[in-house]
Parts: sequence; C-alpha cells; structure tokens
Amino acid sequence: MNSISTQVSRPLQARKGYMGIYIHYPFCYQKCDYCDFYSEGIGPGKSDIEQELFDTYKKEFFLRLENSADLRDRKIDTIFMGGGTPSKASAENWNNLLSFFKKELNVTEDVEISLEANPEDLSSEFLIGLKQAGINRLNVGVQTRNHKDLHFLGRHYEKDKYEKIGEILSQSPIERVGIDLMYGMPDSNEDDFWKDLEYFTNLQLKHISLYSLTLEKGTAYSRNVKDKKTKAPNEEMQREILELLPRKMQDLGYIWYEVSNYCKENEFSRHNLKYWTYEPYLGLGPGAHGFLDNKRYGNPRNSSAYLKKPGAAVSEPVSPREEIALSLFRLFLPISLPSYLDAFLQKDKEQILKIISRFKERDLCEWDGNTFQWKQNALFLLDDLILELVSES
Ligand code: SF4
Repeated sequence: MNSISTQVSRPLQARKGYMGIYIHYPFCYQKCDYCDFYSEGIGPGKSDIEQELFDTYKKEFFLRLENSADLRDRKIDTIFMGGGTPSKASAENWNNLLSFFKKELNVTEDVEISLEANPEDLSSEFLIGLKQAGINRLNVGVQTRNHKDLHFLGRHYEKDKYEKIGEILSQSPIERVGIDLMYGMPDSNEDDFWKDLEYFTNLQLKHISLYSLTLEKGTAYSRNVKDKKTKAPNEEMQREILELLPRKMQDLGYIWYEVSNYCKENEFSRHNLKYWTYEPYLGLGPGAHGFLDNKRYGNPRNSSAYLKKPGAAVSEPVSPREEIALSLFRLFLPISLPSYLDAFLQKDKEQILKIISRFKERDLCEWDGNTFQWKQNALFLLDDLILELVSES
C-alpha cells in the first residue's frame, strides 16, 4: 500500500516574513528515564525560581532583539510553551508573558498558542486560567495508560488523573487538544497500544503524536540498557506498529503529516510545521533552541547559568541544503518543492531535483516537477534517503 490520502487541498508553500516563539520551561515532577530534553525533576510543588525565570525570559528577549533587529518586523503566528512541563508554571505567569509578547511584537490575530501539559496538572481551574491567558492549543504528554509501562518509563503518574484522562480532555475549555503516545516498551503488550489509540481517537482529539521509545544518548534509560540492567525497546513491535499506523489513522479520520504526527483536517501543529519548513523561531529559556538569521543557537542546559547570563547561547551557521533535507523531507504532506528550493537555496537545486527524479524512478514518491510527496514505502528508508539528499551528487 503506497498512497495515503492527506486530504490537503493545496501543497505546502514556502513563506517568508513569519516567525514563531518557543519558550522552554525546564521543570517536571520527575525526570523520566528516557528523556533527553533539558528538564529537572522537582516533585509536586512549584519551582523556587519560577518568577525569576519568567523575568529572565524577557531579559533574553531584549538581548536577542539587539542582535536581530528585524524581529519586530516579523509576523508572529505561533507561540509554543514546551519543556520540561510548562503546565507546572502558573497560568498567571504565562498570561503575563503572552501579554508582553503581544505588546512588544507583531503577533497575528489568529496566532496559535500551544502549551505542553502533563496529566497531573490538568484541573479545570488551571485550564480555564490557560484559556483566559490566550492559550488555544493544549498538548498532553500521556505516553500510555498502562501503569506498568509508565513505571518502566520512570514517569510520574497519578492513577486518578490517568483514569479520568478521557473525561478531562473532552471537557477541556481549550478545544484544540492533542496528546503524545509512546509504543514499543520492551514488555509492552501491543494490544494495549491499539486500545489506547482507540480510546483517544474515540475522543476525536485534534492531534495525536505517536512516538516509538528510543535510546537517547545520555539518558538513564540508555545507560541502563548499556549496563544490561534493563531491556532495550522492542524494535520488532515498533516496526509492526509503524507500518500499520498510516492506514489505521487515515481510517480513523486523521491526516498523516510527519513521520510521527497525525491530525484532523487543518489541525496541524502550525508551530512544529515551522521546524520542518525552515521558518525562523525565537527560542527563549534554558535549554531552548532557536533559528534566527539562518543560524541555529542553543541555550545552556542549566537554569542557574541561564539566569546569570541569559543570552549566552552557542550559535552555529547551518548549511541550507542539509537543513532542507533534514526537515522538509520528514513531512508526508504534498510540498511545492520549487517554492522551498527557490526561497532557501542559492545552489544545489539541480542536484536535489536530480535525486528526487531518482526517487520517483524507484517509486518512492509522487513528483510532477512541482509537487513532491513521499509514498509510504519510503518510511522505513527515510534516514538513508535523507542522507542521499545531503550528499553531493
Ligand atoms: S515529563 Fe516530559 S520533559 Fe519532563 S522528564 Fe518526562 S518526558 Fe522529559
């Protein structure tokens, strides 16, 4: 089975003049064993430095403004609060920060404002506060409803919240709700994953991200696997699930738009689409990444260092060809490829188009000289195909 309908009326086009904002809130209830994001487990309460951190986001903003004066000219159409667990910070602090951006920058009327949350923080009072702050999209890190698997992942979970998660999400005052699920834990039962998926798709959630458990360098989980203290992910199960997902999700009314991401019609994460379509974004906070003036930067993964020196990021110029290959070609949507190549590449266009023609001959994609789209059979070869796009000939 090759063709997956994406129900998208127009191929994606390159855009200029827009920018997103990403804010990293680095605290969580507890550090999950598999997680390689910068985050610190601090237990049930609030962080002692929450207020100071929110003040420092603003300081970093002004420092970045000094180096990229055109920030004020760009249209801000997405703001994303990620982490860590941003739902651990107060709605009042998010409200205040969002008002600050609206005052300082050209934020569009229809801006998408997303916040990542964990189930333990989802009280109706808090959700109402978030909605009043202007947050119009919520993404909840559920991962699985199986307690044994949550325990294996080293995740904090509150039984009561997990049992009522369907009710909580369907009653959310913020209508655009998405979740993350994870599959392929070593002792998982595949049926549990399909049951979870059915449970959440029955709620008609707008967005579902489906990730396989992976070994990320530097995490407790990867060290434990290396030391043979625990088992590696079940790759056979992961492959089976990955192969079945696109068709299954399509039958359930979801569009497959990126390797691990599905949504209802027009319910893409517009912010995450920026990462895959080479659009700039201002990253603020310890451990945040940003992409401005064709340079990527990464802030220190240490909140004390960040508070002392908020603008001290490491910056790297990027090769546009590599960036385009590594981001755009993760999308499974139809893409107006020339629009991206013309907008972002000074050279290498011909080479890329030659490689795309070879992909077409191998029946890996649809390509008519304007619109490009992967076929599903490219999925398991994707890393190698992207490497071919990066290589010289
Ligand atoms: S809750 Fe999320 S960000 Fe925090 S440690 Fe777990 S996976 Fe990482």
